[in-house]
Amino acid sequence: MSCIFCRIAAGEIPSTKVHEDELVFAIRDIRPQAPVHLLVIPKAHLGSLSELEDEALAGRLLSVAARLARAEKLDQGWRLIANSGAHAGQEVAHLHLHVLGGRKLGRMLPAAGPG
Ligand code: 5GP
Ligand code: ZN
Repeated sequence: MSCIFCRIAAGEIPSTKVHEDELVFAIRDIRPQAPVHLLVIPKAHLGSLSELEDEALAGRLLSVAARLARAEKLDQGWRLIANSGAHAGQEVAHLHLHVLGGRKLGRMLPAAGPG
């Protein structure tokens, strides 16, 4: 098994788990880009959000993200990101939602520029 998040799900690679149920788990990002940076990840391997069809899983991913944002007390705001595919800069090809907060996050996207 070469997928990093499948290996984390299987316990082969250590992680800081902040949530686990029968469908999804959540961990702290190893290279946090904000004071709170969590990843909400389905246990089943899906390459990206583009492959998601299971509505129960979709609902669980979103509701766990919202619950974690409340648990982390991100009441001043937070952001949910799902990078999907090359143009979005997706690095790990296993669906995951980023939950980011704890500071002002700035514009959603950098101003348009070349490339
Ligand atoms: P992507 O660019 O695919 O949306 O985001 C992948 C994220 O996974 C990155 O923020 C990266 O820091 C995180 N990541 C990659 N490998 C590991 C790991 O082994 N453990 C944890 N906790 N996060 C990881
Ligand atoms: Zn995987």
